Amino acid sequence: MGWKTLDDMDFNGKRALVRVDINVPVENGVVTDITRIERICDTVYDIQDMGGQVILIAHFGRPKGQVVPEMSLEHIAPTVADVLGLPVTWVNSDYRDAVKEMAGDEVLLLENLRFNPGEEKNDAAFAKRLASLADIYVNDAFSAAHRAHASTEAIAHLLPACAGRLMAEELGALETALGSPDRPVVAVVGGAKVSTKLDLLGNLVTKVDTLVIGGGMANTFLAAQGIDVGKSLCEHDLAETAREIARKAADAGCEILLPRDVVVAREFKAGAANDIVAVENCPADAMILDAGPDSVAHIVAVLERSKTLVWNGPLGAFEIAPFDAGTNAAAARAADLSKAGKLISVAGGGDTVAALNKAGAADDFSYISTAGGAFLEWMEGKELPGVAALG
Ligand code: ADP
Ligand code: MG
Repeated sequence: MGWKTLDDMDFNGKRALVRVDINVPVENGVVTDITRIERICDTVYDIQDMGGQVILIAHFGRPKGQVVPEMSLEHIAPTVADVLGLPVTWVNSDYRDAVKEMAGDEVLLLENLRFNPGEEKNDAAFAKRLASLADIYVNDAFSAAHRAHASTEAIAHLLPACAGRLMAEELGALETALGSPDRPVVAVVGGAKVSTKLDLLGNLVTKVDTLVIGGGMANTFLAAQGIDVGKSLCEHDLAETAREIARKAADAGCEILLPRDVVVAREFKAGAANDIVAVENCPADAMILDAGPDSVAHIVAVLERSKTLVWNGPLGAFEIAPFDAGTNAAAARAADLSKAGKLISVAGGGDTVAALNKAGAADDFSYISTAGGAFLEWMEGKELPGVAALG
């Protein structure tokens, strides 16, 4: 961990350019989830408490280097002001003047960085223009750290740079979970497809003691063992890849846990008629949509004997009841064990966080990452450019 934190910097009388991720969901012009904004508050308050001024820089959506009015951060600024409880001024031009005129606890929010084609190109000139506005660069956008962009990579070399509170918290939690974890470590990986998580599985088998594979991707592993998974979501072309991952796991001494019983249905819809069958008995015209009670009991037993859990991907089609039951039960047990201080649990991923929230388990997890892609890439063992640049 070669990076500095806010505590290593002298903010007194200085301006800080703070890269944040406030790419919040918006429906009909209304911000529907303020979590990401809540998570940047500590960084803003601490810089101000240390006598610094805060200029927020962020992206929103994928405007691809063009000005797209609907993706202006102007729409988000009032919510940022509400959540921070501070005056927030959105600016889209004359940044230099706006910065000079900042007063009191006013926070500036610059326009969507991705309106400028230089941002995603990690353009040095664009980074230099941004850097000229401030004395210190703070990166608090862990969830954007897997991208080498002007505001996450190039700029970090132009100003004294450090990690914000959220960035430091995310990196600390991930280090605890996978860097130097308390063993045994169990990873639960579920979700739809093996193909999106090949690197993840490949890295995890070398790091964890037990890998629980669930969700649609388990079907690919089962099929690779010659089990007929009927009409289940399954990537038959990845059978050899699945066998390779299993071999790699065996070499590394990592135990892979696949479902033993499953919940099958003929329709992918809420309340569809369903049965619990052993994995060998999936009917030819049915789909596996969830882990069965026996599988869940085995997962729970692993959780109970583990000290650390990393979780990405639901165990079943959690969006449609009753196929959320497996995910809910395992999540509830992980939450209880965490609350009791017996398990360090770290989870991330868009659908995973939604599933854990739905299960009512998220609050008791030790750490929920706000990052999707960056969380996965970190778990894949990759170096994140935005983090490396802080070193
Ligand atoms: P994350 O976003 O957390 O990385 P994924 O996107 O990989 O997770 O996976 C989530 C999706 O996987 C959900 O939409 C869920 O319905 C789907 N899924 C899980 N199990 C199954 C299954 N057995 N059959 C079909 N889809 C499944
Ligand atoms: Mg997803």
